[in-house]
Amino acid sequence: MKVLITGGAGFIGSHLAEHLLAQGDEVFIIDNLWTGRLSNLSGVQGDKRCHLVVETILNESVMNELVFKVDHIYHLAAAVGVRNIMDHPVETLDTNVKGTETVLRLANRFKKKVFIASTSEIYGKHVEHDLAEDNNRVMGSVKKRRWAYACSKTLDEFLALAYFDEKKLPVVIGRLFNTVGPRQTGQYGMVLPNFVQSALLGKPITVYGTGEQTRSFTDVKDVVGAITRLMAEPRAEGDVFNVGNDHEVSINELAARVKEMTGSPSEIEHIPYEKAYGPGFEDMERRCPNIGKVRDLIGFEPTRDLDAIIQGVIDYFKA
Ligand code: UDP
Repeated sequence: MKVLITGGAGFIGSHLAEHLLAQGDEVFIIDNLWTGRLSNLSGVQGDKRCHLVVETILNESVMNELVFKVDHIYHLAAAVGVRNIMDHPVETLDTNVKGTETVLRLANRFKKKVFIASTSEIYGKHVEHDLAEDNNRVMGSVKKRRWAYACSKTLDEFLALAYFDEKKLPVVIGRLFNTVGPRQTGQYGMVLPNFVQSALLGKPITVYGTGEQTRSFTDVKDVVGAITRLMAEPRAEGDVFNVGNDHEVSINELAARVKEMTGSPSEIEHIPYEKAYGPGFEDMERRCPNIGKVRDLIGFEPTRDLDAIIQGVIDYFKA
């Protein structure tokens, strides 16, 4: 099968490319290298079945040609990272809204099946454990820039479902919960690579806010396995699935675990959100998926627990 990955030089996209090549697919990647990196593709460089186009997904003629020649599309290209989103609001909205609109419109032109990578961020400021796909979304004020990202991804979901309902375009939506693993950089804010790098360098491990906020971390390989199986499952079409690990951990616990597993002398420091992200920043207190739906449909189970995930990231940065 021929597959297009938008954002294929990114952290998740590059793992997806390796997975698809290993299962015998021919892979086309489009990436503008905003946050993607050529080095992420070093493992597939030289593979004749892997083709890279360095270009934005907003380039219609390039996208038209790519979409025409493939069978499936994985749309991963998006603005990523809380820091990035806070620093680049226009690019965030442009990429996430116009980019997905372009992908869906062209996919519909040639009736190509699309996976849309969405995010747990769209649940917003929930304080509940166990977020299920049909839960309400709890959004903050439009003056709080963070929510622009959540709203743009929500619009992507609405648009994908509209194409499915109205145009019969086969789409599958996955809401990814804090995906982590080798090759993720801390440059755009992500907590685990930041903690591990600081710990290895003996620098302070900086926890934002009280550190009592929770997240649920999923290994990138589990995510890639889940989204490719969802794309292969006809009953997933026109539907939305949480993809994550339902083990919840506080950021304080994460910091302590990273310190212990690296044997680091680093101090764990608490920093107010305003200092990290500017005034008026709002965080989510909890974020843990209900994964009953994806489990029931494709038998998804996360295979790597938190310690295994942290160890993988430590090994990556040490190497
Ligand atoms: N965080 C932190 N220190 C860091 C980076 C992030 O304490 O160096 C916190 C952040 O405020 C959030 C959690 O860790 O509560 C997860 O942050 P990340 O940006 O990785 O993901 P998201 O907020 O999108 O879940």
